[in-house]
Amino acid sequence: MGTTTAAPLVLLDLDGTLTDSAPGIMASAAAAFDALGLARPTPDELRSFVGPPLPVSMRALGVPPERLSEAVRAYRASFAAGNMWDNRVYDGIPEQLGLLRAAGCTLAVATSKPEVYARPICERFGLTARVDRVYGAPLDDVPSSKASVIAHSLADLRRRELVPDAERILMVGDRHHDVEGAREHDIDCLGVGWGYAVLGELADAVGIVPRVDDLAAAVLARLTG
Ligand SMILES: [Mg+2]
Repeated sequence: MGTTTAAPLVLLDLDGTLTDSAPGIMASAAAAFDALGLARPTPDELRSFVGPPLPVSMRALGVPPERLSEAVRAYRASFAAGNMWDNRVYDGIPEQLGLLRAAGCTLAVATSKPEVYARPICERFGLTARVDRVYGAPLDDVPSSKASVIAHSLADLRRRELVPDAERILMVGDRHHDVEGAREHDIDCLGVGWGYAVLGELADAVGIVPRVDDLAAAVLARLTG
């Protein structure tokens, strides 16, 4: 599995953890329902698109199974046409990433967002230079679970000899998918309080960090304490 000599590893969710990406995601989801001629979900329902794999949210809001591929294509057309840039890094995140790196952690973004979008978004918003790697999902219609994204991330990091023993790996995320995906790999997940979770959703996380400015200290307390 891991090596005892590799540095502590922090896997970071993107949407709702590092970036406030709701506006562009909600606009793309609304455009997809329009394109299919289906009634637009409410704003609260559209907000539920932030984080989970796209087809899972589409299905939950009534897109028929046989039209899921069409819905995902319509979403992505709208997202790639400009909504992907309707996004911002939460205040204080760059500083917290700097503190974690200064403390010797390896940092990897691990998002359910397709890697072909995650990489340019991290580049545009200055995150690429602040982490070691950026991993996302493949661009296909099959829902990529968070667990499969973590598996893909760990496989590549292992080839680079950057995977320590599991107790020195921490996932940081804002949704229950992050908690469950990490658990499938025996990795703890630290929840963040500034993302898109609903009340109680992060009950199984090892803790919840309420403020961005406390992120690095909370991560380091788990990994080195
Ligand atoms: Mg998230």
